Amino acid sequence: MATLTRVKVLNPANPNKSTAIFGGKASGILNWNDLSHPHFYTIRQRIRSLFWTANEVDMTQDVKQFPNLSKAEQEAFLKIIGLLATLDGPQTVIAMKIVDFTTDPSVKSIMATIADQESEHNHSYAYVLSSVTTLDKQMDSFEMGRSDEVLMKRNERIVDIYNEFAENPTVETVLKAMVYTTLLEGLFFYSGFAFFYNLARHQKMVGTSTMISYINRDELQHGKAISDIFRAALAENPKYNTEEFTDWIYDQFRHSVEQEIIWSRYVLGEIVGIDLEEMAGYVKYRANKMLRMLGLSEIYPEFTDNPMKWIRAYVDNFDDTKTDFFEQTSRQYVKTSNLNGFDDL
Ligand code: ZN
Ligand code: ZN
Repeated sequence: MATLTRVKVLNPANPNKSTAIFGGKASGILNWNDLSHPHFYTIRQRIRSLFWTANEVDMTQDVKQFPNLSKAEQEAFLKIIGLLATLDGPQTVIAMKIVDFTTDPSVKSIMATIADQESEHNHSYAYVLSSVTTLDKQMDSFEMGRSDEVLMKRNERIVDIYNEFAENPTVETVLKAMVYTTLLEGLFFYSGFAFFYNLARHQKMVGTSTMISYINRDELQHGKAISDIFRAALAENPKYNTEEFTDWIYDQFRHSVEQEIIWSRYVLGEIVGIDLEEMAGYVKYRANKMLRMLGLSEIYPEFTDNPMKWIRAYVDNFDDTKTDFFEQTSRQYVKTSNLNGFDDL
């Protein structure tokens, strides 16, 4: 299989309009009005419209509330932040790796914007933890991706697929990496998100949940962007559009759903207000959604609707109305800086 080569920065002998997303020719000059996939312009605009920074979110109430959470809630809080940080760190890097190998400058630009947002997501976890807990506990949380066996088992295939693309960049390995990127953006984060929304609906840690809702909104747009780029790349490389590859994708989705359910039982078992059966249904519902975005069929026909009814107020309206629960009720979102000294570090 042909190895993809790292693209030159500028190559004036090539046309401005790229000839392919991977393995094509392009000068490196990007004209948004002359794209081989014109709808990529809209994708980038949607992502850019979501700009926010972690330290705009007021954590004052969260700082006071955290010590009053139940032991189980505090533990889950730290574990889930650990999980989210383990997933969002590599998201920055995988976006930049795709930048290195795509021969479509509009895809480079979209992935650069995604990489920037992922890096802010990662920063926001440190911001939240530094507000509510000690440095020791913060460190433990960020160590989880290297020490917690359930988490490591859950992430095994992501690690393999991402590293395979890094070590052996080909059309096949980048397509597989993009399948995992849509799984991350559209499925792996969501039991974690649900935990924070459940706290918010009990009027707890609303600052953190506001931030999570911004991350959630970004991830939905990223998932849409990556799956659109995936479909376009697959259409350009029909020899990979095989039954075998489709089966591989379905298998990864089934496996990921299983792992997500195991994880949610491990981390949310003691949490009041979360029904684990409903959670499992929500994960399957998310899997169906992401499969549809990739142009495939749903594999959980009994979960075409979101079974976790209460969460709809927090997430389901992102796509349509551009408002969300937190902004509608104009809660804790106030611009402040240096609120908890984090920016002095
Ligand atoms: Zn992210
Ligand atoms: Zn993302």
